[in-house]
Amino acid sequence: MKEIVILGGGYAGLRALRFLQKSKGGFHITLVDRNDYHYESTDLHEVAAGTQPAEKILYPIEDVVDPDVTTFVQASVEKIDRDDQEVSLDNGETLSYDYLIVALGFRSESFGIEGVDDNSLPMVNVKTAIAVHDHIIAQMEDYKETHNPDDLKIVVCGAGFTGIELLGALNDNRNEFAEIAGVAPERIELYVVEAVTRLLPMMPEELADYGVAKLESWGVKFLTGKPIKAIKPQTVVYQTNAETGETDELTANTIIWTTGVSGSKVIDDSGFSAKRGRMMVDSDLRDPDYRNVYLIGDCSAVMDPESNRPFPTTAQISLAMGELAAKNILAQLAGRETGDFTYEPLGTVASIGNTHAFGVLGNGGKTVKGYAASALKKLIMDRALTETGGSKELFAKGRFDLYH
Ligand code: NAD
Repeated sequence: MKEIVILGGGYAGLRALRFLQKSKGGFHITLVDRNDYHYESTDLHEVAAGTQPAEKILYPIEDVVDPDVTTFVQASVEKIDRDDQEVSLDNGETLSYDYLIVALGFRSESFGIEGVDDNSLPMVNVKTAIAVHDHIIAQMEDYKETHNPDDLKIVVCGAGFTGIELLGALNDNRNEFAEIAGVAPERIELYVVEAVTRLLPMMPEELADYGVAKLESWGVKFLTGKPIKAIKPQTVVYQTNAETGETDELTANTIIWTTGVSGSKVIDDSGFSAKRGRMMVDSDLRDPDYRNVYLIGDCSAVMDPESNRPFPTTAQISLAMGELAAKNILAQLAGRETGDFTYEPLGTVASIGNTHAFGVLGNGGKTVKGYAASALKKLIMDRALTETGGSKELFAKGRFDLYH
């Protein structure tokens, strides 16, 4: 009996698990995750802003585990030893494998900027998203005592997809924050500080401008072309002049860090030749040096032959990678050739609140805006939910508020 070990129950890992479980026979699977639940990481911003409860974006991993084929182990992975084909866990257990799928996901990237870890809030998993929301609510409650305007200020650091979607959700919850603080909604100040001036480079400029203009029309203040140099307590320090290095400061009692992600620390700790926790894999998603090791999801980089750059890290790509890794292991078990990674996106859409979004359809031909885009975004999320959790999770946790 061959042993397949899957590390990580995110989009990539669960997709691989579900695909493998469909073709029982000749192998046993062990799935490892530090949590006993899967969460929709594309929806963390809504939990952080408080527009969705955490339970809406997670479901038990046991729901998708077929006990006839798979054993689920709740533990944190500490190290992978590819020579000895072993994985060490924080509970002292060591797992041996014939085939390994590494799908350990992402962590927040501080780029070594001073004070980020101590003075800003990451938003990379359910716990940190809940912590962001709790923190905001506590500031709003404090305001009633302090009347300090910084209690009403929320600064998002980085206007990538995550920052933009978070700003939209925070704006959706403006009235709730204002009510807690006992102020008019426009007194809640939302800022974003961003290093570059051309936002969301993977989208046409006109679309990125549309998203910015919409958020600005709702009162969000954009400080663009202002690289953050440090985060001091309750203060963002950003550069205003690249030549002189001059800086300015923005004070706020809520500072959220969304300037990008890197792959799991386990990748670095285990000697993979990776950059920011992402390892370049072969076109069939295998480690170039270990033909029984697959890396998928946010800790993996696979070349897009069309753009000659690695595919970005998105949930849709993680799902497609999970499926191919499973197919390729089945091919290896049957003595067949492995296949190359290809990808057919439904579209790339950024939500700005529950009823607005903007993006491109499919591979980027046609653009969509407004609430047609918001419905497309929910369809994309529902497909992800179905591909990892099946129809049970879709009906329990899916987004069916497509029309407004
Ligand atoms: P990102 O890397 O896409 O964006 C980070 C932003 O922070 C960039 O605009 C960058 O210029 C800015 N930044 C970096 N350092 C900075 C500094 N020192 N000061 C100020 N600004 C700084 O990261 P993300 O938004 O976290 O997204 C991560 C990945 O997840 C991306 O691949 C993204 O496409 C994907 N994602 C997709 C969706 C979606 O499809 N709807 C949603 C969220 C995330």
